[in-house]
Amino acid sequence: MANYTGQVPDIAARPLDWMERAVCLDEREIFDDPSREHEARIVCVARCPVRSQCLAYTKETERGLHRDQRDGVAAGLTYDERHRLDDTAQHRQDDGDPIRLDGTERCGTHLALVRHLWLDEPIDSKCWSGEVYREHGNRRQRTANAPDPEPLPKRTAS
Ligand code: SF4
Ligand SMILES: [Zn+2]
Repeated sequence: MANYTGQVPDIAARPLDWMERAVCLDEREIFDDPSREHEARIVCVARCPVRSQCLAYTKETERGLHRDQRDGVAAGLTYDERHRLDDTAQHRQDDGDPIRLDGTERCGTHLALVRHLWLDEPIDSKCWSGEVYREHGNRRQRTANAPDPEPLPKRTAS
């Protein structure tokens, strides 16, 4: 048995196993560019095999944080959406309204898409459509050069 040294193992600095399969590691130019949020969301939903693990980790590590303390897209959700969906988060007057999901969100709307993403529900083709992208926020980012959403991704076991 090893002698107790009083040192805490440096697990915080070690990536979790699933992180090695995070597609965003190879797509930093997309995820580091705030004007490419919609592309980052597509990468998360259409290509990342560890979105569920990422979602659980993100919820845990960001729990209660204000939007200013969050960054970028994670698990397919923007930092603003994650802040508004987190019912433990602090809200200031000039923040967007909290999003309170009650299960009545209609598929094909932005609210239904964020519910699927936040609750790790399957995403149907109605929600995974160009309409959902066009409907929500930051329309200026939806440039003519932006790619159309990819076909509905298949869920992959991880
Ligand atoms: S789901 Fe998470 S781990 Fe996967 S690409 Fe998106 S941010 Fe990265
Ligand atoms: Zn839906």
